[in-house]
Amino acid sequence: MIRGLYDVAKRLEKLKIPFVLLRGDPVESFTSYIKQSNTGEIIVDFDPLKIKQQWISGVIANTVAKFIEVDGHNIVPARQASDKLEYGAYTLRPKIHRQLHGYLEDLPELKPMATNNFRGFSFEPGQLIGSMKLDKGAGPVQWPLPGEEHARKLLRKFIAEKMPAYSEKRNDPNADHTSNLSPYLHFGQIFSGRIASEVIRNHASDENSEAFLGELIVRKELSDNFCLFNPDYDNVNGFHEWAKKTHMEHERDEREFIYSLEQFERAITHDPLWNAAQTEMVSTGKMHGYMRMYWAKKILEWTASAEDAMKTAIYLNDRYELDGRDPNGYAGIAWSIGGVHDRAWTERPVFGKIRYMNDKGCRRKFDVNAYINRIMHSDKREQ
Ligand SMILES: Cc1cc2nc3c(=O)[nH]c(=O)nc-3n(C[C@H](O)[C@H](O)[C@H](O)COP(=O)(O)OP(=O)(O)OC[C@H]3O[C@@H](n4cnc5c(N)ncnc54)[C@H](O)[C@@H]3O)c2cc1C
Repeated sequence: MIRGLYDVAKRLEKLKIPFVLLRGDPVESFTSYIKQSNTGEIIVDFDPLKIKQQWISGVIANTVAKFIEVDGHNIVPARQASDKLEYGAYTLRPKIHRQLHGYLEDLPELKPMATNNFRGFSFEPGQLIGSMKLDKGAGPVQWPLPGEEHARKLLRKFIAEKMPAYSEKRNDPNADHTSNLSPYLHFGQIFSGRIASEVIRNHASDENSEAFLGELIVRKELSDNFCLFNPDYDNVNGFHEWAKKTHMEHERDEREFIYSLEQFERAITHDPLWNAAQTEMVSTGKMHGYMRMYWAKKILEWTASAEDAMKTAIYLNDRYELDGRDPNGYAGIAWSIGGVHDRAWTERPVFGKIRYMNDKGCRRKFDVNAYINRIMHSDKREQ
C-alpha cells in the first residue's frame, strides 16, 4: 500500500496536484487537517466495511464541509445497483447488467492543474515503513510489484496468456491461470472498470471472458452488497435462518479433529493439502481461489462451532492475505461456513446443510500431490 501510494504521489506531482499523507487516528487526524486547511468540500471513496463507514461518519460529525461519496470500488455503484440485501448472484446479476453499459466508460486522462504556487510533497517509502509499528509476524513477500503501472502490466499479460483458457484452468491451483489482480484491486491500485474495459476491448466475448467478468463484476459487487446491507457480515448472525438452524442442530456433532488457532496458523493439521493451502497463503500472501473454499470449509469441520470457525478464518485471512480485510473475503468466508449466497445441500454431520468439500473432490479437479510438493518446496510467486 505504501509503495503504491508513493507511486500515486509521484504521478500527482507531475500533474501539480498536491498529495498529503496523514498519520494517526483517521478521524482525529483528518478532522484536524480539514479545519487547518479550511477545506470546503470532501470527496471520499465508497467502502462498505464497518470500520471505514465509522471513520467517515466520525469525520462528517466533526466538520461542516460538504461531503461527496464516489464509488470507485464498484463499476455499478453499490448503492445504485440495489437498495437491499441480495440473495445471491442470480438476483443481483440482472440488476447489474441492466445498468452496466452506462458505467463502462473510458476514464478521462488527468490534466495538469493550472497553478503557479504548487508545492510538491513526497516521502521516502522505506523510511516511512521503518517508522511504523508493524506486525512483523507476517513477513514481506516477493511479489506483487506495487503501483498501477505494474497492475496494468499484469493485466495485459493475463489477457494475452491466460484469458484464452481461464474457464478451463481457473480452478486448477497448479495452473496459476487467474489474474492475480486482487491485491491491486484491494489497495485501489487498479479500478475494476479499467480491467473490464481492457478485457472487453482486447478479448472477443467467449466463455472465458464471460466467466472472468462474472467474477470481477457480479461476484465482487455481490460482496459489497453483502457487507453494505448486512452489518453481521463477519459473524454467524449474518447467515440465513436455514443456515443458523442447521448449525445449531449440528453443534454437538462429534468432530474427528479439533485444532487450536495456533495449530491452524502453523499449518500443522493432519491434512497435507490443508497445510499446503495455509502455507501458500503465509509464504506468498495469496492462496489460490479454489483452495480458499476448501481451506475455510475444513476450518468449519475442525473447530468446535461455526462461530469459532468464522473467527479463525477471518483472523487468518485478514492477517496473511494481501487482499484480506476486503468485502470479498467476508463474503467468501460467509459463503464457505454459513452458506451465504449458496443454497442448502444434503444434510451431513458437522456441516448440516452447508455445502461440503473434501480432498477427493480436489483430486478429481487437479493434481493434489503436485500442489503440495510445489508449495512445500518453494515460497516464490513470479510477477
Ligand atoms: C474463504 C474465502 C476467502 C476469500 N478471501 C478473499 C479476500 O480476502 N479478498 C479477496 O479479494 N477475495 C477473496 N476471496 C475471493 C476469491 O477467492 C479471490 O478474489 C480470488 O481468488 C483472487 O484471485 P485473482 O485476482 O487471481 O482472481 P481472478 O479469478 O483473476 O478474478 C478477478 C477478480 O474477480 C474478483 N473475484 C474472483 N472470485 C471472486 C469471488 N469468489 N468472490 C468475489 N470476488 C471474486 C476478485 O476481485 C478478483 O481479483 C475469498 C474466497 C473465499 C472462498
